[in-house]
Amino acid sequence: MKSIELSNALKINRPELGNFSGVGLYRLLRLVAWEDIMGPGASAISYYAGKKLGQDLNLKALDEFLELCIQLKIGIIEIPTMTDTHMHVDIYECVTCSGMDPVGRPICHFEGGLIAGAVETITGKSVLAKEVSCIGGLGDATCGYHLDIK
Ligand SMILES: [Zn+2]
Repeated sequence: MKSIELSNALKINRPELGNFSGVGLYRLLRLVAWEDIMGPGASAISYYAGKKLGQDLNLKALDEFLELCIQLKIGIIEIPTMTDTHMHVDIYECVTCSGMDPVGRPICHFEGGLIAGAVETITGKSVLAKEVSCIGGLGDATCGYHLDIK
């Protein structure tokens, strides 16, 4: 089976409806359907799916990643801490969870993986992202990720 190229998936021709659909559709797929099919393994699989995608984007600079986040409306991204070994990334208005009633656990592993994969490609180092706050998961102000860069 031929895999679907990332660049192909992002080619959109919807003259009347445009480039964006409801956030609800994404959440139904990402949160409800995935967890339903994958069960407790969904978090890890989401992280690795995001990470692979983040690497496949083949970005050269952090600005390109931030631009993509704006284009795809993943959320409003802020990076309050950035050193050679650590980074903290905050997502406001997260596409996956913002506005939900807290479910008692962080749920935005896909975004964490995406950030880790992109930063890995950009820095050429190994990156692990841990979600330390989550808007819809834990009732926090942001979906926040602590990145260890080695
Ligand atoms: Zn989130």
